[in-house]
Amino acid sequence: MSDSLPTRARIVVIGGGILGCSIAYWLTKMGENDVVLLEQHQLTDGATWHAAGLVGQLRSSRNTTRMLEQSVEMYRGLEAETGQAVDWHETGSLRLACSPERVLELKRLTTMAKSFGLPMEIISPQRAQELFPLMSTHDVLAAAFLPTDGYIDPASVTQAIARGARMRGAKIHEHTRVASITVDGRRCTTVHTVNTANTDGTGTGADIECEMLVNAAGMWGMEVGRMAGVRIPATAVEHQYLISGPIEGYTPVELGKMPTMRDPDHLVYYKPDGPGLLIGGYEPDTVAFGTGSGNDGGIPASFQRQLFEPNFDRFAQLAELGTKRTPCLETAGIRTLLNGPIPYSADADFVMGRVPELDNYYVATGFLYGIAAGGGAGKMMAEWMLEGRPSLDLWPLDVRRFSFHHTTRRFMDKRMVEMYAHHYKLAAPGSEKVTARGIRRSPLHDTLAAHRAVYGSRGGWERPNWFAPDGVEPVDQPSFTEPNWWPHVRAAHLAVREGVGLIDQTSFAKFEITGPGALAAAQWLSVADMDKPVGTVIYTQLCNVRGGIECDLTMIRTAPDSFYVVTGSAFGAHDMGWIRTNSPDDGSVIVRDLTSARAVVNVVGPKSRDVLQSVCEDDVSNEAFRYAKAREITIGSAPVLAVRIGYVGELGWELHIPTEYAAHVYELLHEAGQAHGIVDVGYRTIDTMRMEKGYVYWSTDVTPDTTPWEAGLGWRVNLNKGDFLGRDALVAQKEAGVARKLCTFTLESMAYPVSGEAIIADGAVVGFTTSANFGHTIGKPIAYGYLPVELAERNDFVIEVYGEPIPATRHDRPLYDPDNTRLKA
Ligand SMILES: Cc1cc2nc3c(=O)[nH]c(=O)nc-3n(C[C@H](O)[C@H](O)[C@H](O)COP(=O)(O)OP(=O)(O)OC[C@H]3O[C@@H](n4cnc5c(N)ncnc54)[C@H](O)[C@@H]3O)c2cc1C
Repeated sequence: MSDSLPTRARIVVIGGGILGCSIAYWLTKMGENDVVLLEQHQLTDGATWHAAGLVGQLRSSRNTTRMLEQSVEMYRGLEAETGQAVDWHETGSLRLACSPERVLELKRLTTMAKSFGLPMEIISPQRAQELFPLMSTHDVLAAAFLPTDGYIDPASVTQAIARGARMRGAKIHEHTRVASITVDGRRCTTVHTVNTANTDGTGTGADIECEMLVNAAGMWGMEVGRMAGVRIPATAVEHQYLISGPIEGYTPVELGKMPTMRDPDHLVYYKPDGPGLLIGGYEPDTVAFGTGSGNDGGIPASFQRQLFEPNFDRFAQLAELGTKRTPCLETAGIRTLLNGPIPYSADADFVMGRVPELDNYYVATGFLYGIAAGGGAGKMMAEWMLEGRPSLDLWPLDVRRFSFHHTTRRFMDKRMVEMYAHHYKLAAPGSEKVTARGIRRSPLHDTLAAHRAVYGSRGGWERPNWFAPDGVEPVDQPSFTEPNWWPHVRAAHLAVREGVGLIDQTSFAKFEITGPGALAAAQWLSVADMDKPVGTVIYTQLCNVRGGIECDLTMIRTAPDSFYVVTGSAFGAHDMGWIRTNSPDDGSVIVRDLTSARAVVNVVGPKSRDVLQSVCEDDVSNEAFRYAKAREITIGSAPVLAVRIGYVGELGWELHIPTEYAAHVYELLHEAGQAHGIVDVGYRTIDTMRMEKGYVYWSTDVTPDTTPWEAGLGWRVNLNKGDFLGRDALVAQKEAGVARKLCTFTLESMAYPVSGEAIIADGAVVGFTTSANFGHTIGKPIAYGYLPVELAERNDFVIEVYGEPIPATRHDRPLYDPDNTRLKA
C-alpha cells in the first residue's frame, strides 16, 4: 500500500510481471537489498497470468540462447529454494519439418544448437510420434528434439521468484501505480505513485526518490517510457490459444509427460494442459494493441487481468491446420479460446538495457516469450544495473539498436503485425521486411531506383542491395541455396575488382566530436593513437573496461579540436551513446549527429582515380592524396570531404557530400565513369568483398565480448600513447595471452553458409561462424569464426552447413590483397 512506501530506494522496479519480479530477485541475489518493486494491480496481472508457459531455449542468437538456458537452470532449483511449487516439466520439445526447405532450416537450427552447446538432435517422424503419440506424421519429413526444454506454470513461477526476492529483502508493493517520473538533466530522480487499491478514487499518492529505475512494465513499456521522455518501442499484439476438451485414451498424467511441440509449417504450437491440449499459433492477420494514434493510443492503466474477445474467425485457420496434425482435436472439442495481449516490440525482440537518453533509466520490456526468458533476463538486467553491463553481449536485444522511426506508432502498428505473421514462416537468408518501408531515403534513392536498384532496409534506411540488369526483374527471390541476385552480385563484385563502381552509402551514421576536450576524449575512448595530423583517417576500436569492443569505427581528424566519425547505419545511437557516456559532461566535448547533413558516395575500384580526377578540381594522384587521408575537394560545383578508405578492399574514396549536392556529384561521376564501364553496386556486393579482404563487422565478428587481440585487430592498439578505456584489461590479456582467435576459413566444396554454423575439429564442435558469404574473386565460400588458440594454427576443419559437413581450410592472412597493394595504389 502506498502509505507504507519508502520515501527513498536505491532501485525502483516498475512492473510485477515475471520480468519485474525476476529483476528484483537477481538484484537482491547479487547483494543489492534496497530494491522496491511497484505493481499497479497485483503480481502477474498484466500478460503473465494468461501465458501458455512453454519454455524453449534455442534462438538465432547465441547469447539469447544462453540467457534462456539460465532461465531453465533457475526454474529447476526455484521450488527447493523458495518452497513455492512452480510446476516445471522438463519434458523436452519437438520441432517438425514438413518441406525440404524446412528440413534444411531444421538442420541449420540443430547445427546452431550444437554450436551453442544445446543437446538438440534430428529424429525421425516415427520417433517424434513415439514422444508425442497424438500427432499425425503423414506429411512430416523430420523432427528435432531438445530434451532440456519444457513448460511451467507462469503465475506460480512468478510468485516463487517474487518470494525469492522478498526473502532477500526486496519490498514489493501491489496496487501502486507509477503515474509520473521526475527527470533532472540526464537522471530520473523521483517516482510519483498513486494507490490503486481504492476504486472509489480515494487513493493517495506517494513519492519515492531513487538512484536507478527499471521499466519492466510489459506492454505499458512505451507509456512508462514517456513519463521520463524516453522513447521505447514496446506495446503488444493479440495472441490466441485454444484449450481442448479431454483427450480420449490419455490421463492428464500421461499427457503431462509429453514434450511441447512446434509445427511451424502449420503455424501452431502445443503444450499438454490438464486433461487436454493447449494449441496456440501465429495468424497472419493479428491486431496491434496500444499503437493507436491520438487520444486512442496507448494501453489503459485500468487494463487489469483482461483479455480480448476471442476471435474464432481468425483462429479458424490455425484450428484447421492443427486438426490435421492432431486429429484427436476433432472429437476433443474446444474448452476455451483465449485471446490475450502479448508484449511485442518494433522488431519482435526484447527491449533491454539502459536507454540512451538517460543515465539511470533501464528497461526490460517487449518480451514475446517472457516466461521462457524471464529468469535469465532478470539476471542480465541485474548485472547491467549493478556492474554496468551484462556478462553476455546482448546487442540484438539492446534498446540502443532502435532508431527514432521504430518508436513511432505508425511503424509499430504495421511492422509488429508483419513480424508476428512471420514468426513461424520460413525465411530464407536475405529475406527483407515489406511493411513500413521507405522511411529514410538517400537523395539518390529515385535515381538508383531508375537504375533498377533492389532495395533492402537497415535502420529505417532504404539501401540498394543489388542492381538488376535489363531483362531481369528487380525483385528479391531469396533461397536457401542460390538466390536470384547471386549472378548480379557477382558481376558487380568483379566489376569493382577490375574496374570501377559507385556505392550509395548515405545511410552511414555520421557524427562530430568537437570542443576543447575533443582530442582528450578521443584519446581516452580509442585504442589507437588519435593525436595525428589534421586530415588523418584513423580506423579504431573503442573498448569497454574489459577490453571488449564497444564500437568499431573510423574517426577523421578534421581540425585540432574536431573529429568526424563514421560508423554503421544501425550503430549510430549506440556509438554516439557510448561516446557521450564516456566523455566529460562539462561542456568541453560536444557530440553532434551529422547523419542527415551528409550523403556518402563511394567511388571504388582500380579505375576510380581516373573517374574522380576527371570531375574534380584537386589533384587526387597517389602522391597528392595518400591512403588513409581525408581532405576537402571540389567535385563539379560541390564541396566534398573525400576520405581515402573503404570497406571492399580496393582503391577508392568515400565522398561525404552536403546532402543537397549529392545528386549533382553522383551524376557527374556516373557520367564520367561510362568510359570506364562504371557500375552501380549494392550492399550484398559490399559483404562478399569485405569478407575476401578480411574486414570485420561489429555485432557479429567483433562485439563487446571480444577484444582487439582476439579479433586480429591488435595492430590498431597503441599501448604507448598513455591511458585509455580498457587499456588495463588489454595489457593483462596481452601478457596472459589470448584464449581464442578470430580466423578466416574457405569452404572446400560448394555450400551456402550464412553464419551460426558449427566449426568442427576431430569430430567435436570447437566454434561457430560469425559471418559467412561467397568470395567471388577467390571462387569459394568464406566464413569467419573464433577458434580456441590451441587450434588456431591448424588448417583442417569441417564447417557444418545445413547439417552437411564441408571441409574447410583456415588461412593465416586475408584472402585478397593481404599486403594492401591495391588499396594503396
Ligand atoms: C496468449 C499468450 C500466450 C503466451 N504464451 C507464452 C509461452 O508459452 N511462453 C512464454 O515464454 N511466453 C508466453 N507469452 C508471453 C508472456 O505472457 C510474456 O512474455 C510475459 O508475461 C511478459 O512479462 P512482463 O513481466 O514483461 O509483462 P507483464 O506480465 O505484463 O508485467 C508488466 C506489469 O507491469 C505493470 N505496470 C504497467 N504499468 C505500470 C505502472 N505505471 N506502474 C506500476 N506497474 C505497472 C502491469 O500491471 C503488469 O503487471 C504468452 C502471452 C500470451 C498473450
